[in-house]
Amino acid sequence: MNAEIIAVGSELLLGQIANTNAKFISSQLSELGVNVFYHTVVGDNRARLVEAIQIAEQRADLIIFSGGLGPTKDDLTKETIAQHLQRELVMDEVALHAIEQFFNKQKRVMTDNNRKQALVIQGCDVLTNHHGMAPGMLLKQGKQHYMLLPGPPRELEPMFQFEAKPKLAALLHDGGVIASHVLRFYGIGEAELEVHVQSILDTQTNPTVAPLAADGEVTLRITAKADNEHQAYLLIEEKKREILDIVGDYHYGDNDDSLASKLVEMLLQNKLTIAAAESLTAGLFQSELAEVSGVSSVLEGGVITYSEQAKIKQLGISPQLIERYSVVSSECAAEMALKVRQKFGTDIGIGLTGVAGPGSHYGQPAGTVWIGLAIGDQPPATHRLQLSGARNTNRLRAVKFTCSYLMRELNKLGYTK
Ligand code: ATP
Repeated sequence: MNAEIIAVGSELLLGQIANTNAKFISSQLSELGVNVFYHTVVGDNRARLVEAIQIAEQRADLIIFSGGLGPTKDDLTKETIAQHLQRELVMDEVALHAIEQFFNKQKRVMTDNNRKQALVIQGCDVLTNHHGMAPGMLLKQGKQHYMLLPGPPRELEPMFQFEAKPKLAALLHDGGVIASHVLRFYGIGEAELEVHVQSILDTQTNPTVAPLAADGEVTLRITAKADNEHQAYLLIEEKKREILDIVGDYHYGDNDDSLASKLVEMLLQNKLTIAAAESLTAGLFQSELAEVSGVSSVLEGGVITYSEQAKIKQLGISPQLIERYSVVSSECAAEMALKVRQKFGTDIGIGLTGVAGPGSHYGQPAGTVWIGLAIGDQPPATHRLQLSGARNTNRLRAVKFTCSYLMRELNKLGYTK
């Protein structure tokens, strides 16, 4: 099945919002093994929308629309599609009831244009909107499938995942299932990983294996089609073993794992607490950890010591050390880690200092990062990174590397992953 996504909304064309719905739907479709060949964006204009539909009908079996299902005049997606397909709009009583209940609860008067939101295209499969008012729709005409989804991502995303995706999977596989699993790698580039698993990539049929690189990490998505979930699971497990036999050393997690979540998991498991003193990352390390639930048992706190003065005043780093080695140095990173560990009374202290870029600073080129680790009573360990990205890419990569570096060092000291 080949799909095209048509995002409707003049604000997309005006550059007021980014088309994140197309990104989300595409990634979901790739999990189902559906090819997406085109993303189209069209304004709130009936004639141009019809034109876009006619073009999509020439090249896609599944056309997915996002936006324009709301109550206002410029929300014209479903009217235009209904007219194009020569179908009526009919009232969906379940959706209408939900809208009425919403207005009753809010003690607000429901206007006629709100009723309009409960109109659906005759003969469609209604996709319930659990987070808003306008229902989605899935219908077939001729050889094409049409799917209509609301614009707001907080409505579209759960609707796609929980309402539309199972229906698409059933359509695609006549009662069978499609399952996918993501393997996450760190410390190896995409090109190098591909070379290692080339024979697997070249011979893939079912499951398929697709590489993707982003933010210094590489993932391999394994997608299997089978008659039932158990068979799909077995196919995936077999392929996973095959891959990890080759590049298992770089594998750090699966699916929704992140380096930060794996680090928090390890700290929890070993009952270790942590604090961080951050210069170039200015809190990003702690923020990444704080995204993980359960982190409060391990993350004690930290300080942002951006300037030299802050390093001296907040952490008690000696001006002589800074004078002698500069703030971007192994010595300063080690001292930051030691001092923050003492200040917060934790098992581990992290010191992050460097030059985010774009320019050089302290005589060091952009992308120079020193990471200090103070673990228990061990003498602090340090590592120098030389990154080559833009400013914020460098900051994020420094944080990711710190997570991976700390896990490795803890492992060496006998802590279990
Ligand atoms: P509503 O009932 O809110 O009007 P709708 O289905 O009519 O929903 P639109 O009016 O087209 O959708 O868009 C509503 C909001 O959803 C937009 O202001 C924007 O914030 C978000 N949105 C719309 N399309 C996209 C898109 N392609 N990607 C990301 N966000 C989008």
